[in-house]
Amino acid sequence: MKPADAIQDLQYFGEFGGVNPSISDSSTYTFLSAKTMFDTFEGNADGCYLYSRHSSPSNLYLGAALAAMEGTETSNVSASGMGAITAVLMQLCNTGDHVVSSRTIYGGTYAFLKNFAPKFGINTAFVDITNLAAIEDAITEKTTVLYCESVSNPLLEVADIRGLSKIAKKYNIQLVVDNTFSPLSISPKVLGADIVIHSLTKFINGSSDTIGGVVCGRQELIDHLRNVNDGAAMLLGASMDSLRAASILKNLRTLHIRMKQHSHNAMYLAHQFKNDGIKTVYPGLESHPSHAIFKNQMNEEYGFGGMLTIDVGTLDKANALMELMQKENLGYLAVSLGFYKTLFSAPGSSTSSEIPEDEQKEMGLSEGLIRFSVGLDNDIKRTYLSMKKCMVSVGIL
Ligand code: PLP
Repeated sequence: MKPADAIQDLQYFGEFGGVNPSISDSSTYTFLSAKTMFDTFEGNADGCYLYSRHSSPSNLYLGAALAAMEGTETSNVSASGMGAITAVLMQLCNTGDHVVSSRTIYGGTYAFLKNFAPKFGINTAFVDITNLAAIEDAITEKTTVLYCESVSNPLLEVADIRGLSKIAKKYNIQLVVDNTFSPLSISPKVLGADIVIHSLTKFINGSSDTIGGVVCGRQELIDHLRNVNDGAAMLLGASMDSLRAASILKNLRTLHIRMKQHSHNAMYLAHQFKNDGIKTVYPGLESHPSHAIFKNQMNEEYGFGGMLTIDVGTLDKANALMELMQKENLGYLAVSLGFYKTLFSAPGSSTSSEIPEDEQKEMGLSEGLIRFSVGLDNDIKRTYLSMKKCMVSVGIL
């Protein structure tokens, strides 16, 4: 699979021969005949646009590029990653249905499945995604969805997508994979996933200036999501704005270069931190429990990704280190990921705070854990040496 080539091979021209497609700066569209308007509303007039919550040319351009990247028939972009996740889950599940989900997932997704979906009679079993037997045991006759992140937030557990796909096929359930942490590196559809989701907010857009999401999958699913009568994307209304779609498409074209640099820098830091005796988790390290699985399913040239974690023991030490690293301009104390600058946060008290403390402990999310989204630093050795000084200053080394 060559996902970056698939993006590059698309050829889009603008209205006046521009090298970028024109932006559809309209919320509504005119028709020469009332009959065509009716047909468009019914979904029977290909190439016609009605209203930008349904679709817009700019959103379709971005969607086509993301579908090409993931190797799916098509995709639907949305206003946020959560807008993609919630729409897919609400579309696939009816009242009484059951979800089997990885227990280490983004806090917002966890909160949706744990606290919100039960209001509609949709219940979830949270399992250790690295234990295929436990997953199979959790499946009931009501299970319709198996949900995971290819590399989990924040523990960086790696899903064995081929193994999960076998189970999903055996029980005729949909395997939904959030690939936000490993764009290009992992191609879940090629490995057997039915649906691939991204928060575009992160690596794919890469400039921390917008929120966005996408669902990549079969045409039939995307048609359902957009159906005016019962489509979750259409009716819940988290549609992306055309101006944003155009800017994300431009950033997507450099994703392969950025991912290689993120991966290179993260691998360097992970090795150095580990050699310094710091508890370091990075899928590229041979000590990572799922290193072999990642290696086996990766598109090698993009590396093991830009995310790593270290455990410095206590929250106080974690906070002191992050504040000092920010003061020294080595990165920002901020949630989110995929920026040119390194971002760091303590997930237990931020992005995973929706997960109760006892469950955090059970899954191995300790209070001294710091999650790094490693930036595009040109000289990562220089960054490392400065980070080491900060660690010495706060008593970690
Ligand atoms: N999936 C993962 C793995 C995430 O880390 C996040 C956000 O942090 C989301 C989904 C949600 O995306 P958004 O914030 O764009 O709604």
